[in-house]
Amino acid sequence: MPPVSTSEREADRLATYNAKRDFTRTPEPSGERTGVSGQNRFVVQRHRARRLHYDLRLELDGVLLSWAVPKGPTLDPSARHIAIHVEDHPLEYVDFEGIIPTGEYGGGDVVVWDRGTWHPVDEDPHTALEAGNLHFDLRGEKLAGRFVLIRPRRRDAHQDQWLLLHKKDDHAQADWVPEDHPWSVKSGRTNEEVAANPASVWHSDRPPAEAESSTVSESASPTSVELAELDALGSRGTWRFAGHDLTLTNLDKSLFPTRTGDDLTKRDLIRYYAIVAPTMVRYLVDRPVNTQRFPNGAQEPGFWQKQAPSHAPKWLRRWHYDAAETERTQWYLIPDTPAALVWLANYGAVELHPWTSSVDDVDRPTWALFDIDPGTETSFDDVLALARLHKAALDHLGMQGRPKTSGQRGIQVWVPLAPRYTYEETRAWVESVSRAIGNNMPELISWEWSKQRRGGRARLDYTQNAINKTLVAPYSVRPRPEAPVSVPLEWDELDDPALEPDGWTIRTVPERLATTGDPFAGLLGLQQTLSPL
Ligand code: MN
Repeated sequence: MPPVSTSEREADRLATYNAKRDFTRTPEPSGERTGVSGQNRFVVQRHRARRLHYDLRLELDGVLLSWAVPKGPTLDPSARHIAIHVEDHPLEYVDFEGIIPTGEYGGGDVVVWDRGTWHPVDEDPHTALEAGNLHFDLRGEKLAGRFVLIRPRRRDAHQDQWLLLHKKDDHAQADWVPEDHPWSVKSGRTNEEVAANPASVWHSDRPPAEAESSTVSESASPTSVELAELDALGSRGTWRFAGHDLTLTNLDKSLFPTRTGDDLTKRDLIRYYAIVAPTMVRYLVDRPVNTQRFPNGAQEPGFWQKQAPSHAPKWLRRWHYDAAETERTQWYLIPDTPAALVWLANYGAVELHPWTSSVDDVDRPTWALFDIDPGTETSFDDVLALARLHKAALDHLGMQGRPKTSGQRGIQVWVPLAPRYTYEETRAWVESVSRAIGNNMPELISWEWSKQRRGGRARLDYTQNAINKTLVAPYSVRPRPEAPVSVPLEWDELDDPALEPDGWTIRTVPERLATTGDPFAGLLGLQQTLSPL
């Protein structure tokens, strides 16, 4: 197939096209990328939105012509798959892999399922497209050979409904099914893996050049050299970490007893928080944090500390709560950097409890929290059954959320929100969903406030959805033997027979994060609205 030269007619078309387009929204060099050079890109993105589909996109005239193919492109020459012609996408989207927030156009997750170049068979692909009969060759990693996009000339056919088929050629393969090859050619990951730990978020309501935002934290975990320096300190010393000289004290003090007898020390706590900080700070950014301190170890009673201590170093971020009553805490810490987490760990702050709102709009929470609080008679299987009902409820409402262990006996479900609801609205919604869930398993649930009156049953606690009320942060340590951690989970991990609510500890979570990523990452930035029951 010869490359198509830019004909005069095409130049006219492009002029019209350029005049129609708003180039403040399409920052690619206008008119420079004309026609088909013979090296134009194609991409197929596997997109789990309201329904799973594959988006076939062909680069032409500086945009991506796009068809949504529910059954996906195939090499099987006997298949004729429906392809819905959808709006052009900006070139910036060609390599996009990540998540699109729920509630935005195309909300869901996307992988680059195949990519390469496309080559029209006809001299002028514009004419072929107008005629509704485009023959082209693909040179991708999965797809190859000759394809046809054809618009049936049936009177009742929808104008946007085309068919995609593969010709019988050397690349054709009978019974080739796209779902047998679901992984990304960009990352090797599946949609599920990308959703669990996306590198990018696409905001289709923004100009294309600004639409993609990275979720990868800029802060880095400590290097092996830094960790060796921490280990080399005596019982006290100065650790250079994350741009700060941190004075660390009582490093060998035992904070958590263990079954094996080798107690976990404050050094171990500091090391843990330094390692998980790049992930954990995502849940602390711009949020006041209440801490529970256990300076004498988890075996001794701890206490709440909300007030930013006066001796805290200047570089620790503080925030004044203007609406605080006179007797209440005025100044809070916002420990949203790795150095701040290390400073707090040295201060004996075992537990971190971030507010569910950020200081940008402290009266509008961005998380709705469900807390399954087990009673004395509640088994972990009961907790899991209740957690699964939360999943069913969220699915029914078309909303996303994920579970996390409490690090003690319970499970929580965190649901991200757009910052547009008051605490009262959020709490009322959580209560209504919780009551619907409770009605499914009344034998397990008590709505009594007092523990004595609950008869050992679990409580679905919606009351934490209030200003300055908190649940323990993702990846926070709990003050118990073995130093268990509150760990975000994938929903299907609830079915893992080895799962225990306090099974992950400061010894095992770093390895988990390094191998499976952070299941809550896909929730970050989701601007969800509260769906009424
Ligand atoms: Mn799509």
